[in-house]
Amino acid sequence: MEAGMSVPRRLDLWNSWVSDYDNRIRIIADFCVEDGLKHDGATMAQIPSYVTSLPDGTDTGLYLAVDLGGTNLRVCAVDLLGDSTYSMKQSKVAIPSQLMLAATFSELFAFIATRLHLFLQKHHPEYLEASSSNGATTAVKKDNILLGFTFSFAFEQQALDRGTLLRWTKGFNIPDAIGMDICSTFQSEIDKLQLPVIVAALVNDTVGTLLARSYTSPGKSPTLLGAIFGTGTNGAYVERMSRLTKLKRGEKPTGDEMIVNSEWGSFDNEMKVLPDTVYDQALDTESVHPGIQMFEKRISGMYLGEVLRHAIVGLLSSQGSVNTSSKLHEAYTIDSSFLSMAASDDTAGLTVIRKQLDLLLEIDASVEIAEAVKILALAIGRRAARLAGVAIAGVIIKSGRLSAPIPTGSKKNAVAASVKTVGDVEQATFDSSSDPARKRTGLWSMIYRVFATTAWWLSLPLRMFGGGQIKLVTDRPTDMIDVGVDGSLFEFYPKFEEIIRGVLQEVEEIGIEGERRVQIGKAQDGSGVGAALAARAAGKARELEANKLPK
Ligand code: ADP
Ligand code: MG
Repeated sequence: MEAGMSVPRRLDLWNSWVSDYDNRIRIIADFCVEDGLKHDGATMAQIPSYVTSLPDGTDTGLYLAVDLGGTNLRVCAVDLLGDSTYSMKQSKVAIPSQLMLAATFSELFAFIATRLHLFLQKHHPEYLEASSSNGATTAVKKDNILLGFTFSFAFEQQALDRGTLLRWTKGFNIPDAIGMDICSTFQSEIDKLQLPVIVAALVNDTVGTLLARSYTSPGKSPTLLGAIFGTGTNGAYVERMSRLTKLKRGEKPTGDEMIVNSEWGSFDNEMKVLPDTVYDQALDTESVHPGIQMFEKRISGMYLGEVLRHAIVGLLSSQGSVNTSSKLHEAYTIDSSFLSMAASDDTAGLTVIRKQLDLLLEIDASVEIAEAVKILALAIGRRAARLAGVAIAGVIIKSGRLSAPIPTGSKKNAVAASVKTVGDVEQATFDSSSDPARKRTGLWSMIYRVFATTAWWLSLPLRMFGGGQIKLVTDRPTDMIDVGVDGSLFEFYPKFEEIIRGVLQEVEEIGIEGERRVQIGKAQDGSGVGAALAARAAGKARELEANKLPK
């Protein structure tokens, strides 16, 4: 930031960064999507998931899910009830830090298998009894249970149940794991304990998000995309198999479509079109992995507070008022929830912002500085939401769904859900009837209409900073394109969805008519329910293969 430049002028600059690039970004998005489908090693990796069918809410049965994130290990049993709802039992433990640096990959999985054993003993002992009697009794539970494994590290997949670790992140380092098959290593440890469990599917959390949304989403419209705007950002979408030309003939499973994990967080790492400020550059240079995840660094919860922090440092130094002992000078001291707070502080004198600046950073901010901070928070948040809109728009355009007739009857009507969750960990009861898309009838539609007319006024401060007027539409058509989204940034940053919808309307190929056909809703628990649904998909694929064999 140039010294002496007034805040409004800086803002104009920032907003030209958010409004000028749409046209170019479309061309590059087009190229990136296509490139990743054709070659390995593309910037946007477009990783095939080998999941070839989408759940429509009618699937039933009990499946297991294991979710190995960076911090916790979660074991779940998901009972699919066949009416778009499920009930779930789960247990969660922190991963012991010595296991993150275990001597061997097997050691890590031995721990996971033990947790799985304990979980079955507690919640599903009927499976253990049946297996110990070798299924010879009349016990009904003599079958193996299929398990879906959500593994939140970079892996390369060769089949639904085959994949190898590419590299460790998030504090893990078990050297012998690199290049080893994940599922079979896990399976050997399960077999040592003689558990009746088959590791049937290895899934990325965005793939799980898409599956979970597809199972629970209301209405007949098939889900196209599962997107995450949380700590990081990524999306998985349904691609036509014929376009996945990098898969060789022998690698292609039966089916017309496959879910692809886009890894869009690394879209335009080359920085050909992404907006770039000195604050973005400072963040990138100081980050653990400079030069990669450039799209993610402008969108996701992990980074937005840090972009703001750099901008505030710039602002204060241009005013000549820098307190060098302030926490402002420590990296990552501002969480992205600060942006949500600042964006919605409508108090006279911005008392909330000033109080938080004082509490968090020991900055005694004038009203003028607080105003500047609010404007910056609005600009950074708005830019993030607009970029999120670009990713969603790119997938919608490339899917061809806007021009293709949507298959009818592929999903049954929505049923209000009531889902029980039991387990060692308290977890909010999932009630999919809280999805606003389900409620847009009767009284709700009236309230929604009132909101839609006031929305123009509510969006006024945002529209002052560029971008067109966002028109909310109430009467959405029936041939919808469904998008499931997960993540706190989407959930809590004010008007995140509204800004995304503004982008969809602005992009020529979608427009106001196309935007009306996009249904955006919350996806529930992609790493639990989604992994269970992947195990279900694996089961179906196995049945299909078995039926193909000559009798
Ligand atoms: P995860 O990505 O680990 O699954 P979340 O979806 O909850 O978890 O996302 C966490 C991220 O969301 C964090 O980076 C956090 O800063 C951000 N976040 C949490 N609350 C808010 C909020 N109110 N507004 C904006 N961002 C938030
Ligand atoms: Mg999450």
